[in-house]
Amino acid sequence: MKQKETLVNIQLNDLKNKIELSDVVIDEMGNEHISTSIDTPMRNDAFVLTDAEKIVAIEKHFESIMNILGLDLTDDSLRGTPKRVAKMYVQEFFSGLNPANKPKATMFENKYGYKEMLVEKNISFYTTCEHHFVPFAGKAHVAYINNGQVIGLSKLNRIVQYFAKRPQVQERLTIQIGKELQSVLNSDDVAVILEAKHLCVASRGIKDDTSTTVTAFYGGAFNNEEKKTEFFKYVDFTLSM
Ligand SMILES: [Zn+2]
Repeated sequence: MKQKETLVNIQLNDLKNKIELSDVVIDEMGNEHISTSIDTPMRNDAFVLTDAEKIVAIEKHFESIMNILGLDLTDDSLRGTPKRVAKMYVQEFFSGLNPANKPKATMFENKYGYKEMLVEKNISFYTTCEHHFVPFAGKAHVAYINNGQVIGLSKLNRIVQYFAKRPQVQERLTIQIGKELQSVLNSDDVAVILEAKHLCVASRGIKDDTSTTVTAFYGGAFNNEEKKTEFFKYVDFTLSM
């Protein structure tokens, strides 16, 4: 009998160890900000619910989270929070998950025969860390060399904002912006640098308030050191934050 009890205890402890181990792995993966793919991982049924239905469902779930935390939702200040959060998630923070919201890129003929790189720098962006659901924010610098057609300047900004409005990791955000620009510009010659401050690094975990993260995407001519250096000079990105 005693032996059996011990065996049960060992099995329970084993199970506990397994649970603790997987918790550790989950925590570490989040803190290391490991991304798994270039495309945002989404389910096939992502758009079965309408935005309005998503807002109603998220509101209910967020209300549960606040209730579990012990917050009094009859308080005037808190009453509207679940709905506000739900609307903010669907209509703002995560609106870039829906391809219907992708900016339409209008191209113009390069009538003035401009041949140099065009740099749009210091594009501010706010996005959400997909591991902690807190913001990370910074500046994007993008450059391209036209292939006979040019794009409206505000479109460069809109493309950055579209991909920022998703749960993200910085590496994926950088690549998604770079690849989208290559696609709409019909040119490989695209460069993107992102410099951002992560709230999940600044305010929790390692609590480093001064570090920033820099990521880059270089396509086509920007793999050439000369072009890269020219881009760096225009951007002067170490001074941008
Ligand atoms: Zn994070």
